[in-house]
Amino acid sequence: MVKAVVGANWGDEGKGKITDMLAETADIIVRYQGGANAGHTIVNDYGKFALHTLPSGVFYNHTTSVIGNGVALNVPVLFKEIQSIVSRDVPMPKILVSDRAQMVMSYHVLFDQYEEERLGKNSFGSTKSGIAPFYSDKYAKIGFQVSELYDEEAGLMAKVKRICEQKNVLLEHLYHKPLLVPEDIYAELMEYKEMIDPYVCDVSAYLYEALKENKTILLEGQLGSLKDPDHGIYPMVTSSSTLAGYGAIGAGIPPYEIKQIVTVCKAYSSAVGAGAFVSEIFGEEADELRRRGGDGGEYGATTGRPRRMGWFDCVASKYGCRIQGTTDVAFTVLDVLGYLDEIPVCVAYDIDGEITTDFPTTAKLEKAKPVIEKLPGWKCDIRGIKKYEDLPENCRNYIEFIEKQIGFPITMVSNGPGRHDIIFR
Ligand code: GDP
Repeated sequence: MVKAVVGANWGDEGKGKITDMLAETADIIVRYQGGANAGHTIVNDYGKFALHTLPSGVFYNHTTSVIGNGVALNVPVLFKEIQSIVSRDVPMPKILVSDRAQMVMSYHVLFDQYEEERLGKNSFGSTKSGIAPFYSDKYAKIGFQVSELYDEEAGLMAKVKRICEQKNVLLEHLYHKPLLVPEDIYAELMEYKEMIDPYVCDVSAYLYEALKENKTILLEGQLGSLKDPDHGIYPMVTSSSTLAGYGAIGAGIPPYEIKQIVTVCKAYSSAVGAGAFVSEIFGEEADELRRRGGDGGEYGATTGRPRRMGWFDCVASKYGCRIQGTTDVAFTVLDVLGYLDEIPVCVAYDIDGEITTDFPTTAKLEKAKPVIEKLPGWKCDIRGIKKYEDLPENCRNYIEFIEKQIGFPITMVSNGPGRHDIIFR
């Protein structure tokens, strides 16, 4: 059976924690899209970890962690990450890397930086990890697949030269930066080959066999629905699909095997990068929520930059859950809201005087004003509570109100960052 864990919003919903928790009863955890541009924060018996590339199942002995073909594979980052967990006494995880995954090259990272620099105040707020240039090259058919590292030298070198020729035109005339040297790029590829060789695997064949043996596979998504290049807030999106449906492609499994889609929704909103954010709040109100948010504040796991903050957005979340094909909602970080007398919730958008609960395309979204309803707070700490009935009445009312607005069942409530801070309904 395959389960997917994905985000309903802009990312940072707490997918890492939910994956880590569900991994307890899974055999295989697969990253199927994205790269090292976002991070998951996980708190478990070994400590607190920020993962960027490794699947969130690496902390268990019984699981295999898989980097699927859809991932933007940054080999040095993967290696640093393995080192960073092993050096903190986590046993060496079992890792497989798809022979069809493509690699982020050092020049992808440079192009990302140069382009953001060139765009100046119009930049996308990229984490400058090379993700957009990487996926552009993948679809322009000038990327490097892991399998190509095993090609004979002359053929691979010829491809490297062709790519350098093209890249160097931009480097010279658009960015005015140092040019690429084919021999250096070839050496970089050979270095990656040495690092990755022990893990390379025909992942889709491996997963096909695992499914025949009735293994449980978790697909771990990165970012959330609103960052999807097709269904998100284009162009302020990421460069690979963030949807559960893409899991079939990015892991290489049959779409009909995905039986459960757990969409993670945070009890308030946060976002990184540019783009419309209708329920955004500012000033002291935002600072306080940011300070109290998540586990130790809402700051990027990759960049450390402060996240933009807002109240729960029912319109965006209803859409985000629908587009994922949600079977279950995991409602996270609810404990953080315990300080509020009243909790504002965005229940609809006002677009040029028209009230709607349908999430619009980008131009309309930019004009949307939030319609806010306030719910009474519960004014206490709910961490440590294990049963739904033991939550304060106002807290249950908040959950049930949101469940009704978004129209998908909240089957899990997360009331703390730890693996076992979870209430099943
Ligand atoms: P992801 O990218 O979706 O995995 O999300 P992040 O890891 O960037 O952000 C979620 C943050 O919230 C992390 O710091 C988690 O440790 C933390 N977190 C997850 N669930 C809860 C929860 O229920 N309560 C609290 N207080 N923190 C949580």
